[in-house]
Amino acid sequence: MNIVMMGVQGSGKGTQSKMLAEKLGIPHISTGDIFRDNIKNKTELGRQAQVYTDQGALVPDSIVINMAQDRLRQSDVDKGYILDGFPRNGVQLAALEYIKPVESAILLELDDATAIKRLTARILCGKCGVIYGANRAPKTVGVCDECGGALVERNDDKDAAAIQKRLDLYHQEIDILVRYYEWKGVLRRIPASGNVDEVFNLCLKAIKQI
Ligand code: AMP
Repeated sequence: MNIVMMGVQGSGKGTQSKMLAEKLGIPHISTGDIFRDNIKNKTELGRQAQVYTDQGALVPDSIVINMAQDRLRQSDVDKGYILDGFPRNGVQLAALEYIKPVESAILLELDDATAIKRLTARILCGKCGVIYGANRAPKTVGVCDECGGALVERNDDKDAAAIQKRLDLYHQEIDILVRYYEWKGVLRRIPASGNVDEVFNLCLKAIKQI
């Protein structure tokens, strides 16, 4: 199944996407993770993206769409995908419908005040990407429970102005996606204020309904 996860930063998109990917046996594709890996490995793509990601601005469509298209054409996507962070605007939405159309769009709904609280508490494993925060603390401070990697704060979570910019952008861009997927009959809205397992069960139920 081709699934898009949507929601404000801090709504749990990354965590829920990873859990769904494992349960359904399809790849979790996060455009933000792909950029962070490329920035860490100092690739040309990383160099091009970093000026935007550090400021909380969107990377230009030409770069993101080509990158997403390359990833979506790999053979492990034959059974479907969980997309996290893509599409983010009307141009990307149209490109995705052309490349591999969406069959289910899940919108994790959370108010901005709670999202900001979660983002400022968020840390993640620099090695495997597992996310920790107010709802999930690592057993040993600074160390990933899953792989022993060091936990780090995302650059774009360190700066209140960058957080606000990402939330403002989200509100500007999300409307067109929601209206389109609603029209297509594949949109499911899920309250994201509950704990990880509660939200996960709601996501599973939502997918079965489509
Ligand atoms: P995320 O991990 O989804 O919050 O993404 C982190 C950063 O990567 C964003 O703030 C953007 O700078 C960039 N990014 C990720 N996905 C996209 C996208 N679909 N379009 C443009 N920029 C993106």
